[in-house]
Amino acid sequence: MSCNIILLGAPGSGKGTQAALLSKSLQIPSISTGEILRGEVASASEVGKKAKSYMDAGGLVPDEVVVEIVKKRISEADCKNGFILDGFPRNLNQGEVLQAMLESIRKKVDLVLDFSVADEVIVKRISGRFACKKCNTVYNRFFSLPKKEGVCDNCAGTEFLTRADDNEDTVKNRLKVYRDNSRTLIDFYQKKSLLYSVDGLKNVASIFEEISAVISDRNKILSGV
Ligand code: AMP
Repeated sequence: MSCNIILLGAPGSGKGTQAALLSKSLQIPSISTGEILRGEVASASEVGKKAKSYMDAGGLVPDEVVVEIVKKRISEADCKNGFILDGFPRNLNQGEVLQAMLESIRKKVDLVLDFSVADEVIVKRISGRFACKKCNTVYNRFFSLPKKEGVCDNCAGTEFLTRADDNEDTVKNRLKVYRDNSRTLIDFYQKKSLLYSVDGLKNVASIFEEISAVISDRNKILSGV
């Protein structure tokens, strides 16, 4: 059974962490448009050149650029049993385009998880965030340092990176952009009865347990068990 899941939430709401956990447990890919775009910027591709200034300022990259990326990615073979979208759609237009895109390939959105976290917490979460250069495991200098200082818990890597847009000024703009665009998108999915709200302040393990149960219940209903 396919399971196409969308994760909504402000930057730093914990959706990336849960996307990685769900991807592993459900054996479906997690697609982060932010991560793909950072790769494009790093390789100085045409898409990367178009996206860079918007990303540096914490604004949204034009819809047509992001839509094209998602269209290509979800048509790849590893998405046939489902996928997790992390960071897309980010506004109502992207939501509507995604709906049409999926209908045209006889797919649909099955569940939308909306992660909510207060702005003050987000600013602290993002400005303290850094990740292992090798395996991308995310840490935070205020809340979750590696068990051994300077060594990644997951892969023992010793080099870490901080994202260029994870600074306090850009974060404030990213949050504003998120708040300005998300309400209509949340309403869009609420009207379709696809929305499940997640308290993003809970700890990682209990959120994962909660959303795994939601997904499993939904799958049972769909398979008539
Ligand atoms: P993220 O890693 O999801 O926080 O995204 C980092 C940056 O990539 C955002 O601040 C945007 O500039 C850009 N971006 C990622 N996803 C999208 C999207 N769906 N639409 C427009 N811009 C996006």
